Amino acid sequence: MTSNRRPEETVVLITGASSGIGKACAEHLAQRGYRVFGTSRRAPFPPTPPLPGQPVMLQMDVTRDESVQHAVDFIVRETGRLDVVVNNAGFGIAGAVEDTSIEEAKSQLETNFFGVLRVCRAALPVMRAQGEGLIVNISSLGGVIALPFQALYSASKFAVEGLTEALRLEVRPFGIHVTLIEPGDLHTGFTDHRVRAAAWGPTSAYARYAERVLQIVEADERNGGAPETVALLLERILRSPNPAPRYQVGPAFQRLAAVLKGILPDRLFEWALAKYYRIP
Ligand code: NDP
Repeated sequence: MTSNRRPEETVVLITGASSGIGKACAEHLAQRGYRVFGTSRRAPFPPTPPLPGQPVMLQMDVTRDESVQHAVDFIVRETGRLDVVVNNAGFGIAGAVEDTSIEEAKSQLETNFFGVLRVCRAALPVMRAQGEGLIVNISSLGGVIALPFQALYSASKFAVEGLTEALRLEVRPFGIHVTLIEPGDLHTGFTDHRVRAAAWGPTSAYARYAERVLQIVEADERNGGAPETVALLLERILRSPNPAPRYQVGPAFQRLAAVLKGILPDRLFEWALAKYYRIP
């Protein structure tokens, strides 16, 4: 879709561009000449002019309707269009399902799922009026394989998967493309930004297993690939005339696990997952 449009004429919004995947994508596309607007909850308003080859950083909290609308309106006022939206802002909550309060669960969904929905709803009228657009939703391999002690995180990403698959069909007649990127573990700020449920700790009935699983998870994340791999993939998607429903990126064994989940009998796959995470 944006394949016909030159980078300098292509306006891109990337949420959560202060760190990790979003930052890598925003800087990569800005250096390639795209007109990139990144967002952070901590960016100044009004935005300061960017250095050459850097994105404009806008203030946006994806958990607040008016904050999202404000940032989208600003971009449209400045440029007259919005070609690409990358819904990337997100974080993870760790904790057993039983230990995760409803408030904690809601906060996870508020950012990772409703944040995506808010940004889509603000961007779609602009894209429909243009008769073209591309929305890239950053899901996770944890949105394909449910991760123990990150159940609410996985639930938020499974929800993003469902939203994206349905939206993709709904907006097809309007020339709008929607796709998913499902990263495996990458070395970003995600591990340090992870929130543990308040009931996490030695008094939890799950303490022994939860701690062991999270150690494995966090070691995988710290040994994960560079977020620039997503930036390269994103650029490829922007150049594609007809993006696929989903793209996976990250360590080969994790991408293989996602393939095996679709092939192996459920019990066999679950047995392998329990072995990997040392859950008896
Ligand atoms: P980082 O913690 O490095 O970056 C997260 C970004 O999200 C920050 O820029 C932060 O911006 C932003 N953010 C968080 N909450 C909000 C909010 N309420 N409103 C607006 N922005 C917010 O993590 P990653 O780069 O790793 O994560 C990016 C995405 O990639 C997430 O959706 C994550 O689930 C997904 N992902 C990451 C994987 C990994 O291994 N790292 C694997 C699979 C998926 P600020 O705090 O400045 O507002």
